[in-house]
Amino acid sequence: MKILVLNCGSSSVKYRLFASPGRAAGSPPETSAKGLIERIGEPGGEAADHAAALQQVMETVDLSGLGAVGHRVVHGGSLFSAATVIDDKVVTAIEGLVPLAPLHNPPALSGIAVARKLLPEVPQVAVFDTAFHQSIAPDGVTYAIDADLAARWQVRRYGFHGTSHAYVARRTAELLGLPLDDAKVITLHLGNGASACAVHGGRSVATSMGLSPLSGLVMGTRSGDIDPTVIFHLHRVAGLPIEEIERSLTRGGGLQGLAGANDMREIQRRRTDGEPAATLAFDVYCRRLREYVGSYLALLGGADAITFTAGVGENSAEVRAASLSGLSALGIEVDPARNEHGDRIISPDGARVKVCVVPTDEEAEIAEQARKAVET
Ligand code: ADP
Repeated sequence: MKILVLNCGSSSVKYRLFASPGRAAGSPPETSAKGLIERIGEPGGEAADHAAALQQVMETVDLSGLGAVGHRVVHGGSLFSAATVIDDKVVTAIEGLVPLAPLHNPPALSGIAVARKLLPEVPQVAVFDTAFHQSIAPDGVTYAIDADLAARWQVRRYGFHGTSHAYVARRTAELLGLPLDDAKVITLHLGNGASACAVHGGRSVATSMGLSPLSGLVMGTRSGDIDPTVIFHLHRVAGLPIEEIERSLTRGGGLQGLAGANDMREIQRRRTDGEPAATLAFDVYCRRLREYVGSYLALLGGADAITFTAGVGENSAEVRAASLSGLSALGIEVDPARNEHGDRIISPDGARVKVCVVPTDEEAEIAEQARKAVET
């Protein structure tokens, strides 16, 4: 069955066509076409709007025999715990979640509307970044704030990057020959956005992002965890408007805020040159990772594996080594040669906790989930 995966951002449409998303362990999914249409709606952009962009996709790729379209949707709130075949009710529900994801859900809705119109015969499936984390127990998603306020305004932890964490945890179990049903894996998705997840038996039991993708790890431009009083202080004492504080924490925080660059490669170069700001940024980033790993080891009662993925996780031997240093008493070690060499398993032979590097593939996972949703 052919499956088209669409990832619609505010000004871009990413697409990938899978000839056969079903795959055996270790074999890569088969992609027959992919592309990116950028600067939608901008002067000189590649398309006037999402409808024009999707029209382009359909003219470029051979969609004969298409079995489903899988749409990446960032926020599924508390409503969606799995990939869901889209009908009018599902669209209304995703619209209702726009206040929780004002930047992310509207472009996905445009993509869904256009694809339903252009491909009325093909089932459309929404695959949510939040869905995987719906398995987290109430004590893991509840903030200790006024319970009535929280219920009224849907304030709780949702978590994101779910498709990536699910995919990478499963791949880790395959790589290590562990039954997924009782494997305990800590997955570290370190891209521009970054999050940690504790996975037990293929289910998310904890994750570092919360109501929004701002909390948890230090990211390219996002602060990750801070004391909320920072916001009141910047508002009351520094006189900054709330919008400016939000912009600062989301676009001007993280590595960007600490060292003026969001790219880990630049941070590493400048750290090697001995620059103090880049060195501190790197250290804050890695320490936060270690704190989350420790916390998830405690929650899981030990782990079979810790897996790094996404741009930084897959490529930065420095971050992998620094973030897990000093943990040998917990059975966690990184073999320097394997780490530098880019091996898939970078812990020494016989290590109690395997440390792995597994490339993520969110689109392949979306295709796989879309296929399952239309087949059931
Ligand atoms: P996104 O979250 O946008 O999908 P990626 O997963 O592609 O991002 O990760 C992007 C980040 O990966 C870049 O900002 C960069 O910091 C980091 N990165 C890519 N290659 C390397 C590398 N060789 N060493 C260290 N960091 C890298």
